[in-house]
Amino acid sequence: MSAFFLGRPGDTPSGGAASSPPGWRRRLPRLYEAPMSNAAAPSPAAANDDVMKKVVALCKSRGFVYQSSEIYGGLKSAYDYGPLGCELKRNLMSEWWRDMVTCRENVVGLDASIIMRPEVWRASGHAAGFADPLVDCQVSQERFRADKAPRPAAPGPLPITCADKGVAKTYAEIIEKKFGVVLERDGNVLNGLVASSATEFGYVPKGASAPTQTWAWRGYVSPLIGSPFLTAEKSFNLMFRTALGAVDPMQEVANIIDTTLLCSIGSSEDLGHGTRSYNLDEFFNVVKAKFPKETSDEQSLLGKAVKSKDKALVIRAIIEHIAGPSMVYLRPETAQAMFVQFRNVQQSMAAKIPFGIAQMGKSFRNEITVEHFIFRSCEFEQMEMEFFCEPGTQLQWMEYWKDQRMSWWTRYANDPTKFRFRTHEKDELAHYADGCYDVEYLYPWGWGELEGIASRTDHDLHAHQEASGQSLEYVDQEKEDPKTGKKPWKYLPYVIEPAAGATRAVLCFLLDAYCEEERTTATGEKELRTLLKLHPRLAPIKCAVLPLVKKDGMPEKAREIIDAMLKAGITAKYDEKGSVGKRYAKHDEIGTPWCATVDGQTLTDGTVTVRDRDTTVQVRVAISDLVATIKAKLENFER
Ligand code: ATP
Repeated sequence: MSAFFLGRPGDTPSGGAASSPPGWRRRLPRLYEAPMSNAAAPSPAAANDDVMKKVVALCKSRGFVYQSSEIYGGLKSAYDYGPLGCELKRNLMSEWWRDMVTCRENVVGLDASIIMRPEVWRASGHAAGFADPLVDCQVSQERFRADKAPRPAAPGPLPITCADKGVAKTYAEIIEKKFGVVLERDGNVLNGLVASSATEFGYVPKGASAPTQTWAWRGYVSPLIGSPFLTAEKSFNLMFRTALGAVDPMQEVANIIDTTLLCSIGSSEDLGHGTRSYNLDEFFNVVKAKFPKETSDEQSLLGKAVKSKDKALVIRAIIEHIAGPSMVYLRPETAQAMFVQFRNVQQSMAAKIPFGIAQMGKSFRNEITVEHFIFRSCEFEQMEMEFFCEPGTQLQWMEYWKDQRMSWWTRYANDPTKFRFRTHEKDELAHYADGCYDVEYLYPWGWGELEGIASRTDHDLHAHQEASGQSLEYVDQEKEDPKTGKKPWKYLPYVIEPAAGATRAVLCFLLDAYCEEERTTATGEKELRTLLKLHPRLAPIKCAVLPLVKKDGMPEKAREIIDAMLKAGITAKYDEKGSVGKRYAKHDEIGTPWCATVDGQTLTDGTVTVRDRDTTVQVRVAISDLVATIKAKLENFER
């Protein structure tokens, strides 16, 4: 099937499924997902670590990606895309849009607001279920995600590996104090703990054959030091909340606490010296008097809290009750707007099933563990499409979109073998999904997700139809309802969702493009050439125009060429600083695929040299043909 398939209503996709090796998990609701398998995440090798460090350094030094708010010490979970980074990200997202929307008759675009009615997130399940299992290490206080933690084999040893001997000594003392065992220290490693079964770990003193003390074992350890001494898992909702409107809900909360809660504290209480004797009954009575309707409803948050007689729970419920109505969420994914606007888009565009709605843009998740540079950040960009199809055709469309999406990823890659599918196991699938595949990339630390492609049945439309009370059914006037045998057929379309990360894709293509080559210079010396072999359509600058020297009319000629390129829509840059060799090296490093150099010959025969980044081969091209040559190279580039 062609890479730019122009689907028509009624077209049926054909196969082309790629292989589906095993790997890890995917999205909502996270609490119900299976943990990442260890096999999918090989431990990072030093060389790979090095590549990551080099790419991160290059990103900063060459203006691709900076740490957010760096001059104030940086914000850990946020990044700013510099002059070259924003061009690269924009090019990548344009390529996705071109492939998913512009080149298809049956996919349309949407640019929805980031803030939506909170009901959207209640109906979608995000308000209740979009949570990560959060755990603290009781030794190092590290906070991490249980589902991403290392899972050592059981039975087997559980060494605690610390940063240095001093830290190991401190942690040994903490363990002795909190858990009553003295671990044997070997340099920076504490030994003696073993996973004795799938549910238990214990302390086995040197020379002993059985544990002298045991604890419950949850199958994973803290990522930093490998400690099995962990707190219980707490569910942590990933959505960012903020308040909409001119009312400050926190002030209202403060007023209520002042008038309702403080006045219920008994007069005998000593507020200044620690011994507080709250009059709890009085407190609950005041709350009931203040919120009679809510507290009498035992199903409401406040009703449940009062019934529990838990003071903290009641205070929390009051805060939710007051602040809740003005609270809105920053979207944690772009997908929901496509379901919520399904009817508007379908009717206003007279779209016929099958058709898709695509959207790209910012999403926000309050990630517990931000990791691997821009791989996982709290603010990121997604490129998602919901493809609505007839019930019963979804698995064929799934194969079609798998094929299309893998073809898109590998089209821009130097090394297509670093991309693979990972089939979700049955127990990993959300209850409504009837198939899910991740497109994974082999990052320096192991395989990781780039995109999820899921068959979501009619789950989302159904949920929004129920919650909003609005019909989201599609009416096919030409088809008979399979149940009644009569026209029209009214149904909720099924959905295939390819959901990719744009910022994660930037990292993937930077890693794929980064390489170092040893080469021999014109003077016979060996030198290391660093280059980004970015696909030219992704490259921030397509052509650099360099006057060989800053005299003899060469700068003026180069400026003329630049003007012509910019007029033709080619991102070109004039560069006259430093020797021509240094300028080539700089453009290799930022991924500029071609450099056009104006030299002495240019002034006599109207030609320039065009140097290819990857081969370093130079050919002479007439200035009059230059724009067309670069355009053709951009359009027809193949690896
Ligand atoms: P992960 O398992 O890595 O947390 P996910 O399965 O939760 O990802 P989806 O909800 O399927 O991710 O989102 C679709 C895509 O959005 C992912 O494949 C990924 O490329 C991207 N993405 C999700 N979360 C983040 C994040 N915090 N930072 C950057 N990209 C992200």
